[in-house]
Amino acid sequence: MYRYRCTQCRTTSLPVHTRSALAQERHSHRVLKHGGHIPDGEQIIEPKRFNFFDLPREQQIAGSLMIAAILVAFLFRVL
Ligand SMILES: [Zn+2]
Repeated sequence: MYRYRCTQCRTTSLPVHTRSALAQERHSHRVLKHGGHIPDGEQIIEPKRFNFFDLPREQQIAGSLMIAAILVAFLFRVL
């Protein structure tokens, strides 16, 4: 989910799913509210990148075990 924020107007767009929808949101705000100019301090709010170490410990362990199981199954098939 992406959001466009204009610090001049102190507004944030509704969340959109794609970068192209975000670009559309930004463009229409610039045209409608700022006469096509680029407002100073505008921001793009992006989803946080996935980080394995942000997961709860149980999920880290479960995920690691699943990857190990898949690797073992793969090795059995190859060897
Ligand atoms: Zn604005």
